[in-house]
Amino acid sequence: MNYKSTRNDNELVSASEAILRGLASDGGLYVPESIPKLSTSLDDMVNMSYQEVAYAVMKEFLTDFTETELKHCINSAYDSKFDTPVIAPLKAADGAHFLELFHGKTIAFKDMALSILPYLLTTSAKKNNVTNEIVILTATSGDTGKAALAGFADVPGTSIIVFYPKSGVSPIQEKQMVTQRGDNTYVVGITGNFDDAQTGVKNMFNDKELASEMNSKGYQFSSANSINIGRLVPQIVYYVYSYLGLVKEGTIKVGDKINVVVPTGNFGNILASYYAKGMGLPINKFICASNENKVLYDFFSTGIYDKNREFVLTSSPSMDILISSNLERLIYKIAGADAAKNLELMKSLNETGKYEITDAMKKELADFYGGYASEEDTAKIIAKIYENDNYIIDTHTAVAAHVYEQYVKDTNDTTPAVIASTASPYKFTRSVMNAIDSSYDSKGDFELVDELNRLSNVKVPEAIEDIRTAPVLHDVVVESEDMCKQVKKILDI
Ligand SMILES: *Cc1c(COP(=O)(O)O)cnc(C)c1O
Repeated sequence: MNYKSTRNDNELVSASEAILRGLASDGGLYVPESIPKLSTSLDDMVNMSYQEVAYAVMKEFLTDFTETELKHCINSAYDSKFDTPVIAPLKAADGAHFLELFHGKTIAFKDMALSILPYLLTTSAKKNNVTNEIVILTATSGDTGKAALAGFADVPGTSIIVFYPKSGVSPIQEKQMVTQRGDNTYVVGITGNFDDAQTGVKNMFNDKELASEMNSKGYQFSSANSINIGRLVPQIVYYVYSYLGLVKEGTIKVGDKINVVVPTGNFGNILASYYAKGMGLPINKFICASNENKVLYDFFSTGIYDKNREFVLTSSPSMDILISSNLERLIYKIAGADAAKNLELMKSLNETGKYEITDAMKKELADFYGGYASEEDTAKIIAKIYENDNYIIDTHTAVAAHVYEQYVKDTNDTTPAVIASTASPYKFTRSVMNAIDSSYDSKGDFELVDELNRLSNVKVPEAIEDIRTAPVLHDVVVESEDMCKQVKKILDI
């Protein structure tokens, strides 16, 4: 299996090379030449552990990894760092199945991929005889940053620099990042928003002069963002696993279809479910849920992607994104794997901030349903599910739950649905508690944590206990124009 850029057909690389590079040299994203089918039948997978499902899925994509290498990566990632041996449990509530993807070290779904990425990356470096130190450069809307820091902290041969929007993340998200330990970790706030951070990082990746300067000093960049195919492939696993879970509990039989509902920002998580369908998983609809930054909802309704609009700060900050990078992989696919066509649209996005797809491409999106939740909708559904089911979801998951409710009203489609539950409510305690009762707003962050514990009966995660008293170790803030300067300063080049 080789990988090629979404922007030209001439650069074929192996899986390990694609993981190492992060982004293709023409600014495109790496995609597999074709989506491989699962070679084990779903019937034969029903009783597999998470790690076994991970191997069955990932070996089809990472074909230049040996069985020993890949199993080592999987078993090192999905171990007791997760607070449950099933890794990603399903909880039934509100007429749907919540797939809890937040049982890892940093209590957001980013852990599902970022626990394994450091192993994939260091294995890839070895396979390709790379001797440079790998500098992970990451832009975060809040959750990727901490998950990547936790994954790469003190990993030999790597260092990690994370840029986050100084006033665009939750208090707990910020505290988690700025208290990160590890001699190879750097956390930098920027004065812009997430899109500014992501654009700054992409510019550094595309800067050939910077790359050669780095190389001469023994460094090279890679990415922990979901533009890296090494992030995407591990995310396919839990869709297959959740399907098997529904079979096991008797909700569906092998072959039955499910719907998936995904609270979406950069479009990585939902794209992974689309790849899962490509592998043969019976999925009916992909329900793409946005918050008030509803650029994707508008795209699915009109075929026009237009980022020229106000950037709204919401209670689901990890979805406050106007440029959904991974959508490029879908655009490429629905353009019939036509790199030239995709390049034309991405150029337009770059130059004018928008593009429009053709009618033929629109037809290829029939399996997608877009919806969005206002801030009020988000708060209401948190309160409703708490009152009816005694189950407390976070604000991002709430966006998905609201859109799913809308979808069912709209379509009467009662196909069993898996809702990707992307963060622990403890990560967004203030917004979650305010949704349940607005009088909580006067309390302190950690008082609210204890109150959430009382209401939910869910143990306070270690990730939260850890930051109650942890000292701030990172306090640098720069203008977004100065991101590159800051990187050079950190690396002393
Ligand atoms: C990153 C994130 C999302 C959005 O996922 P994408 O893959 O960027 O679409 C949703 N919810 C939470 C909690 C996240 O951290």
